[in-house]
Parts: sequence; structure tokens; C-alpha cells
Amino acid sequence: MATANNVEDCIVKLLENEPPVYANAVKTLLRIFNNIQQNQSVEKFRKLRLSSKVVSENILPANGAMECLFACGFVEDDDSEHLVLPMSSNLSTLKSICHQIQLRSSGDSHKQSSLLQSPPSTTGPPTAANNSTASTSTSASTSASAASTSAAASTPAASSSSLAASTSTAASTPAAASTPAAASTSAAASTSAASSSSPAASTSTANITSKSSAPANAAAKWPKWKFPVLTPNIALSEVQFYHKLKVSFDHVLLYEDIQLQAKALQYIPKDYLSQTADRKYKQVKSTTKFDYADFYLIELMDWFRDDFFRWVNKPDCDLCKGKTQHAGMGKPSSEDLRYGAGRVEIYKCSQCPHITRFPRYNDPGKLLETRRGRCGEWANCFTLLCRASGYEARYVLDWTDHVWTEVFSTSQQRWLHCDPGEKALDKPLRYEAGWGKKLTYVVAFSKDDINDVTWRYSAHHQDLILRRTSCRESWLIKVLKQLRDERQKGMSSELLRIHQLRLIKEGAEFIFEKTKTVSAGEMMSRQTGSLEWRQARGEMGQSAKVTPHHTFTPSSTDLAQGHMKVTYCASTNTYILSGSQVKTHDWETGVYESENMMRNVEVDWNMVYLARTKGSTSASVTWLFDLSSSGKTIKELIISVSSATFHTGSIRWSVEAEDGKQMDIKPNMTHKLTNFSGSKSVKLCAHLAAGAGADAWQHTQLFRQSRDDTSSTLLVDVIFN
Ligand SMILES: [Zn+2]
Repeated sequence: MATANNVEDCIVKLLENEPPVYANAVKTLLRIFNNIQQNQSVEKFRKLRLSSKVVSENILPANGAMECLFACGFVEDDDSEHLVLPMSSNLSTLKSICHQIQLRSSGDSHKQSSLLQSPPSTTGPPTAANNSTASTSTSASTSASAASTSAAASTPAASSSSLAASTSTAASTPAAASTPAAASTSAAASTSAASSSSPAASTSTANITSKSSAPANAAAKWPKWKFPVLTPNIALSEVQFYHKLKVSFDHVLLYEDIQLQAKALQYIPKDYLSQTADRKYKQVKSTTKFDYADFYLIELMDWFRDDFFRWVNKPDCDLCKGKTQHAGMGKPSSEDLRYGAGRVEIYKCSQCPHITRFPRYNDPGKLLETRRGRCGEWANCFTLLCRASGYEARYVLDWTDHVWTEVFSTSQQRWLHCDPGEKALDKPLRYEAGWGKKLTYVVAFSKDDINDVTWRYSAHHQDLILRRTSCRESWLIKVLKQLRDERQKGMSSELLRIHQLRLIKEGAEFIFEKTKTVSAGEMMSRQTGSLEWRQARGEMGQSAKVTPHHTFTPSSTDLAQGHMKVTYCASTNTYILSGSQVKTHDWETGVYESENMMRNVEVDWNMVYLARTKGSTSASVTWLFDLSSSGKTIKELIISVSSATFHTGSIRWSVEAEDGKQMDIKPNMTHKLTNFSGSKSVKLCAHLAAGAGADAWQHTQLFRQSRDDTSSTLLVDVIFN
């Protein structure tokens, strides 16, 4: 029988027809379907002659219409001249398609207004451009529904039992709001019903069918906009949505336990982190917009990732440390359940008969002890550590199956995206631009607030809204407000004012979609987990290539002094330009091109270096020094670079000029090169390759130095003619 996805696909196809074609097809389909439903035992209504006028003129020309019939269970008759619906067919898909079509035909004007209530950025006038996004909506809506089934995995408390509970609640809950027109009053009803599971009221179903009186108006009402096609059973999906919100909103209260926070603090090497943060902050204090608290957060995040928490794809064998293979799900023990592990993954050892269990703990206190997991465990434990360290922190749940943290920066007066597994701070477009994610809903939860923050994580709001098919936008706004109001009840008026201001500011931030540019750091594909795992999730993104295209050009001081000197220090991650004493932070800001490169910190060895991204087999990085705009040419180059290789790793350093001159150079010594005299620009290039085993990425390192060493690891001095 047809699946929900199938039905959605058919409807989406139907919607892509020209309005008159759509109207004819829909009118005919509804007549066929109504006849069948009203005369269920009459065979003639279940038989359609393919050559009839009705079929050949109304059904066949419409893309998706035949598919609708097949989805309902129609099959070709033996004579090949008719389509028949066997008497034994279940009519549920037919009803569902009817419902969808009717929803579309009567509800368009409402949907438009509900869309307009959602983030202000979507209020732009409908344009022809919307049509171009129509083709994406097919795959988008299927991926969204696929996501909604798998996303449960990342919800902290979502165990299989709670999911079952949500479905059964749904079944007995009045489907309050499935008719679009009922939206204004029904949201409150549906939420209270969901939370209190009030006795079933079956009025809603009647409501749905009686509401659909005017399919004939479809053509006249055909909108210029393309709208998301809501899931066939919107009432059920809204109840599940509500349940998911409630679970995470309750979960974040765990972080407020004073004893748990004290326990968490015991694990953090506060002195070390604060000394490092203080040192780094002082170095750039005059030029940075961030404050000490932001710097400490970076240290906390780095420590959490490098030293404290471990990523687990497949756990090693408990007994012999051998590699394992996933072998299904196990039964949670009472101990597992006590720490919120409703799901227990089972792994078979490849070397011994031992079975290794991997309970997916949800209790943040337990995670302080186990210190391992995937993004769910990472975000859960890290959000606790942020709260324990005194930051205002949010647990952020992405409906397409990821979780991270947001921390409120007092210096910036805004929420910072913070994903320790990715070592990504304030790189909100990383998922969409870097991983190639098709986001739908991203919601942030804290002890005093809940907000739909999806818009921060996307630069393509118009495409995104088409994928939001799990609930009505007006419903979501109301539900979030209701949950927020409930949580903020009893808050002092002063605090309330602060939260309201933040909410308004955040809303304003979301408007500026069009001005968003993707930074180099955001183009990175997923960093955590094995390559295999990343590929399995399809998050490698379109390209791992980073092209910041920075060019070093001489300043007026450089010109006056006759040379341009650039140094880079890996431990402080800072470039210093001699002429102007300008410092810029982050290695990526100074490179012309780079591919598969990252900066790695080893807390246990106290070392830092640039290396290949994990899982990559080769990498390259280039710096460009260009005198052409100044009219000068190169007289002499002084170059010193440091690098280290291990095992079979290899690094090739070279200098190339725009006029074709080229030479390889050795690391860890100073070169005075006069053979580039007369050239206008040079590139310094490093190619990293080879190495052995799973850690091959680590076997080629640039600029390796102690974290306490602040000497430069790269020096390029360009002396002018
Ligand atoms: Zn073993």
C-alpha cells in the first residue's frame, strides 16, 4: 500500500501543474473518490475507462493525477483498457489524498497569512522566484518526514517508550487544529490536550471533511506562492511536535541542579583554562570585540573536545579493545534506565566472542563519568558544563538530527552558536553551507526560554520554509509562546523585561538573511566522527574546499620601509604584519587557498599545529604575497617555515611566482632567495599527504609548537626592489 511519502509526492506533483490543469484534475479526482466513498459496494464507481473523456482530458494531462490513483490502489484491468480499484482495497490512502486536496483547495488564503506571521524575513512579496523552488519541495518534504522519524534519536529523553506514548496520546487527542481555518482558536486547545491527554473528542475528523466544500474554486484561488504541503495527518504530527518540544524543555531544567553543577565543576581544570584565556585575551584585547568570558568559553570548548569527551562511532570491545560491528539494539537494564538510556546499542567484537553494550545515556551527570557519545551526549554534557561555569546556555535541537549549544555572550549581547564536537563557535551556517544540511526546525531551550532559532542557521529562508511541513507556522508560534509564558510565570518584572528585549533583538537578527555571507569556517564539512560515518549521513557537503582568498599586500609603512614582513604563530593562532603592527586572529584569515586543513590542539601533550582534517588523504594551503598594486617588484625573499612529519607522512613546501619561477624549499631553516627578483607576486604552498592508518591526518603537521611557545612558526619577509 502507499506510504505517506508516496501520497505527499503525488500531491506535490499535482501542485506543480498549471492552474487550469490542476483544477480539472482535482475536480475529477474528488468526484471519483467521493463516488467510491459514498457507494462503497458499487463496482462501477471503481472502474475507469482509460479512453474516456474524463480520464483522457482531465486525468492524463495532469502530472501526479495517475500517481494519485495508483497510490489509492487502482490497478490496470486485465483488458488493459480500464483502471480498477479492487473491492478488497483499503480506502485510507484515498481518504488521505482527498483530505490533502481539500486542504489545499480551501486553505490557501489562510496559509498565506500564517506564513506571514512567521519570521519577518519571509514577508517579502511573492515573486516568480518561488516557482523555481518548487522542484526542491518534493525531496525536501520527504527528507523532512524522514528526519522527523530519525530525529527522535537526538532528543535527550526520547526513548522508544516515550515515542510510543506520544503516538498513543495523539490517537486519543482531539485533532484540534487540522483545518486551517480553525487555527486561531485551536492552538491552545491542541496543546492543552496534548499535555493533559484529555478525553478523546472526535469532532475534528468531522470538521475536516465538512470543511472541504469548494474544490471547484481551486483554479480561481490558485496562489502565486508555493506553500509547504503539510503532512497528511497534521494533527498527529503537531501532537508529536509538541511532545518533542516539551521533552527538551523539561530536560534543560536538569542543568539547574546545584549539586550536579558542583559535580561538573570538579572536572573542569579552571585554573589552566582561565590562565590560557587570560593570556590570549590580553594579546588581542585592543582589537577584539569579544571579552574574557568569550575567550574562556573557547578554552572550555577546546578542552571539552580535545581532552574531556570522546566521540564514539562504534565502541571498541570492552574486553580486548578490538574493533566491533553493530549488532542491533539490546534491552536496557534498570541501571541503564536510571540514567535515561532507553536505547542500548549492541556491538559484536571482530576478535573475540565478547558483546559490548553502548547505552545511550541521557543523564548529564552520568555523562560526566562516561565522557563519550555522539552529538546528543556531547551537547547534553557540554550545556551542563556551560551552566556550571556560569554561562547562560541553551540546548539546541535540530529536527534533522543534530544537537548543539548556544551561549549568551554578554559582550555581544546575543546568543552564540557553540558546537564543541565541531569546535565551532559562532559559525551558525556551518550545517547548511558546510554539511549540506536541509534544515527544517531548530529550537533552543533554556531554563527560562524557548525559541524557534531556525533562521539563524540558514541563509536560504525561502527554501527552508517550504520544508517546514510538520506543523502550521501559526500553531508553532502560539505553542512556543504558551510554553515560554508558562516558564516565565513568577519571573521578576526586571528579568521579564530583559528576556523580552532579547527575544525582540533575536527576532531582528533573524531578519537579516540576505546580508549573511558564509565564512570560511562555515564551509567546513562535518568534523566529528569517522569519514565513513560522515558519508553515511550524507553530510560531507558539496565541497571541502575553503577559499578565503586572502592576499598580503604592502601597507604604506611597508612601502616606506622597503619590505613587507608577515609572521604567524600557531599557539596564539595570530598573524603579525610588521609594517603596521596589525594582528589578525585565526590561520584561515590569512590564507589564499586551503583544502582539508584544520588547526589542532592536543591538550594532553600541550601542543598545537595545523594538520589535515581527520579522514582526509591529502591537503594543501597557500599564502599569497602580491606587490603588483604598489608597482614594486621583489628583490629578495626571506622565508622560514616549520613542519614535522611522522611515519610515512610527507610535506612539500614550494614557492611559486606569477611568472612561472618555482622552487621547493626545506622546512625548519631560513632561506634567502634572490632568484625571484623581478617577480610581482609569490605564493608559498604546502602540500600534505600520506601517513599511516587511521591517524594518517596527524602524520603531517605544520607549525607544531608548544601551546606556551609564542614564537613565530612562519616568516615571510618580502624585500622590494
Ligand atoms: Zn573483543
